[in-house]
Amino acid sequence: MPIRGPSEVVIVGAGLAGGLLATFLGRRGRRVSVLERRPDPRAEGFIGGRSINLALSARGIDALRRVGLAERVLADAIPMTGRMMHSPAGALTYQAYSKNQSDAIHSVSRSKLNLTLLEAAADMDEVSLHFEERCAAVDFDRPYVTTENDQTGQRRQWPCELVVGADGAYSAVRQAMEARPGFDFSQSYLSHGYKELTIPPAERCGVDPKRYDGFAMEPHALHIWPRGGAMMIALPNADKSFTCTLFWPFEGDLSFDEASRVGVRTFFQREYRDVLGVMPTLVDDFERNPVSSLVTIRTSPWHLSDRVVLVGDAAHAIVPFYGQGMNAAFEDCVSLSHCLDKNVTQGEALRAFDRERKIHADAIADLAIQNFTEMRDKVGLPRFLFWKRTEKFLHRFFGGWYTPLYNLISFSTVPYAFARRRACRANTIVVGVPIVVLVVVVLAVLAVFSLVHWAIAGVVGVGAIVLVSWLAHLAGEGREIRIP
Ligand SMILES: Cc1cc2nc3c(=O)[nH]c(=O)nc-3n(C[C@H](O)[C@H](O)[C@H](O)COP(=O)(O)OP(=O)(O)OC[C@H]3O[C@@H](n4cnc5c(N)ncnc54)[C@H](O)[C@@H]3O)c2cc1C
Repeated sequence: MPIRGPSEVVIVGAGLAGGLLATFLGRRGRRVSVLERRPDPRAEGFIGGRSINLALSARGIDALRRVGLAERVLADAIPMTGRMMHSPAGALTYQAYSKNQSDAIHSVSRSKLNLTLLEAAADMDEVSLHFEERCAAVDFDRPYVTTENDQTGQRRQWPCELVVGADGAYSAVRQAMEARPGFDFSQSYLSHGYKELTIPPAERCGVDPKRYDGFAMEPHALHIWPRGGAMMIALPNADKSFTCTLFWPFEGDLSFDEASRVGVRTFFQREYRDVLGVMPTLVDDFERNPVSSLVTIRTSPWHLSDRVVLVGDAAHAIVPFYGQGMNAAFEDCVSLSHCLDKNVTQGEALRAFDRERKIHADAIADLAIQNFTEMRDKVGLPRFLFWKRTEKFLHRFFGGWYTPLYNLISFSTVPYAFARRRACRANTIVVGVPIVVLVVVVLAVLAVFSLVHWAIAGVVGVGAIVLVSWLAHLAGEGREIRIP
């Protein structure tokens, strides 16, 4: 395809962030070229390697709505209004995410969503998409991107005013930035990996199709098999199948290594008995599908030389346990296009974007790791269920003041760090107030029995403990109160 003259913006990566950002910038009249290393999915069918489906929630929907794509994407999505926990004995416990029936996260197909974004971008005269163009180098000063076609070896240069690295967790643009002084980068891997498996539609696994509208299990829930240290989840697909994801340690108890040693069927018979009957392709899937790593990536700054900037996983890859990586990447697109619009110079815009997004990306990275412990170890425990019921009660009756952290993250667009701080403060009050009431009651009883000196000692001692822990929580913005 001929290049139509220099672009204002070159976006490297036609994944989820790259596709959406091209649409945002194109609608603002900027000439955009998108360079993608893979073949064109519109011609080839999708060949992406990452998760098959994703949970889209309020932040992602808000971003899609701004470019008129939300309705189209939601038309094919399956809303999930709660978690369905599966115990080792096969008992099911359903827990709604919210008091509001309309609050749901939406299971969408990654390939279909990517296609929708690319079609929307390609519809604009301002945007051109170029496939089989792998970014091989970036010149930060002029700037331009050099690409290489992996089939033909042909190299091309793409001059522009702004390079956007939307090329995912192992970004080539970021790797080029890492060589520059003053650029911080860290990556940390979990000791767990992930592998995807399939539960086919009901009729293909011996379940009465009428029972769950053609699915083998309840479709409007995110299914979780928490096993303490490991877990499996399943999200529904539009074709009535489920995609299951194993999040298991590589080695040790309940690990990929153990499952391979004892045999997959035997392992599932022991740990995930209730789904064995609906996974006819279990052994094949397990052998065929790879185990992939889970990484958290942090970078700072997200921009360099006023001409190059990172968005999405390239800037902040996070583990998937809050279902927010794509949602956060979509928020980046909203923020970057807004910053480019409202700032006079490109340098100011990139600095404003960094300031606006970085603290929130860091917050959701921490929360995603915390949520892994919650999902794999706690969701089945009575005290967790009690805490969730308490949260729901408070949300129902004190909704103006109390919103659970999960709801703030998944069903609102309150920026992540503010959501975490707000939930942390509210939880501190929820735990602190009963303690204070208890102390007052004990003191009143002591006073009634004229044990005044005990009462004074009690006031000072307990008051000090409450005050110190309260202050610690308020100061420790990063820590939400765990389940009591
Ligand atoms: C198992 C799993 C489950 C997940 N579930 C959820 C979920 O439920 N909800 C959610 O919000 N998020 C989820 N995520 C996170 C989500 O997948 C990512 O945050 C999202 O894909 C980031 O989009 P991106 O465009 O930044 O990167 P990507 O989607 O990875 O896109 C990067 C693109 O750049 C291209 N590229 C790479 N290198 C080059 C190069 N050198 N030159 C040219 N092109 C290049 C790639 O081919 C790709 O098309 C999940 C992630 C995983 C691993």
